[in-house]
Amino acid sequence: MSEMTSEQLVEWDRRHLWHPYTSTIEPLPVYPVSRAEGSTIWLEDGTRLIDGMSSWWCVIHGYNNARLNQAAKAQLDDMSHVMFGGLTHRPAVELGKKLLEMAPPTMNNIFYADSGSVAVEVAMKMAVQAAISASGDHSKTNFATIRSGYHGDTWNAMSVCDPVTGMHGAFGSALPVRFFVPQPRSRFDGEWNPADIEPVERLFEEHSAELAAFILEPIVQGAGGMWFYHPEYLRCLRKLCDRYGILLIFDEIATGFWRTGRRFAWEWAGVEPDIMCIGKGLTGGYLTMSTVLTTREVADTISRGEAGVLMHGPTFMANPLACAIALESVRMLQEQNMPEVIARIEKSLRKGLEPARSLPNATDVRVLGTIGVIEVDRPVDVGEFQKRCVAEGVWIRPFGRNVYVMPPYVITPEELERLTAAAVKLVSEMPA
Ligand code: PLP
Repeated sequence: MSEMTSEQLVEWDRRHLWHPYTSTIEPLPVYPVSRAEGSTIWLEDGTRLIDGMSSWWCVIHGYNNARLNQAAKAQLDDMSHVMFGGLTHRPAVELGKKLLEMAPPTMNNIFYADSGSVAVEVAMKMAVQAAISASGDHSKTNFATIRSGYHGDTWNAMSVCDPVTGMHGAFGSALPVRFFVPQPRSRFDGEWNPADIEPVERLFEEHSAELAAFILEPIVQGAGGMWFYHPEYLRCLRKLCDRYGILLIFDEIATGFWRTGRRFAWEWAGVEPDIMCIGKGLTGGYLTMSTVLTTREVADTISRGEAGVLMHGPTFMANPLACAIALESVRMLQEQNMPEVIARIEKSLRKGLEPARSLPNATDVRVLGTIGVIEVDRPVDVGEFQKRCVAEGVWIRPFGRNVYVMPPYVITPEELERLTAAAVKLVSEMPA
């Protein structure tokens, strides 16, 4: 590797590398990592951090996993990539078979895409092509969604992110204008309030002719607010979509692969989407890949349309290396008693974060599956908070008013205890 010292490395990074959502004038501090294993991240100076983020939801089996490493090495010896136009391969087919075993029963067709955001783009393109094909109406092309959602950073994905906390401010009129209804306020674990769904019915009554699809994150809204809402919302939404001829897209990119305590979050409500996006945990956090699943009906409606084909085909589609790793990752999930694994983490998160309820600056504490959130009364100073995280030996990256953890599933009970204790301590020490 390079001869640079850690300080030189950080300085070069500061001058030349863009990090996520970062200013080039006043970049937030970054910490150089030398290696990671299980739930531990080691910094170059030897500092050991317990990972509370699973690298933004994706490293579900922990870092440097022996089985995933082996799957990658074996696939490298065959081929790391080959185009998917006119060719196919065992990793793509075998992964597809496994995904259909896990997916909602009506899912039948699989599109392999590059990242979560691209999966959302593809899902939206599918919905538009299917809606035009089914209705013959070229104006049935718009989308509706709920506020406080997050669907990624590409153009159309941005357009359905929350219009206030999302990207709309920075991009102004460059973004397509979508229909937004209020965020459902009935808590996942509380009473269902039917008033939550009324704005959707009013919107559909007026605008169904313009709407190709309704897109949302089922049960858990991630980056847009770490909010867990009532499953009844999805049941009502499904009925309304059917009644008004509007496709339903579930963005399960963050919620998939047991993160919420079920294989996929739709299972909490028992209603299936027409189109579903998955990503993040798909490759166990090894490589970027996502998939878009659809019913046979959606797929065939697209194919009967004007173009006769789905208009998307990326260079790295169904990358064999990513497929082989994803296949092994899915096998690992299928071999474990996942409800038990998740229940252990959930119990520990509940116990460990409970003391935060009595903190004066904590406005809510909520846990679902392996996601634990302490909501505070003001936006967190991320740079300062992370400096203190590193001093405490944990890795947590707050967003907005949420200090949240979603650790790798291999985290040990002791690590989890230390992680939650540090989260509560750091919140308790936040400046008033
Ligand atoms: N959709 C949801 C629900 C997400 O949480 C994210 C990423 O956080 C995305 C889409 C975008 O995924 P990616 O960052 O892989 O493009």
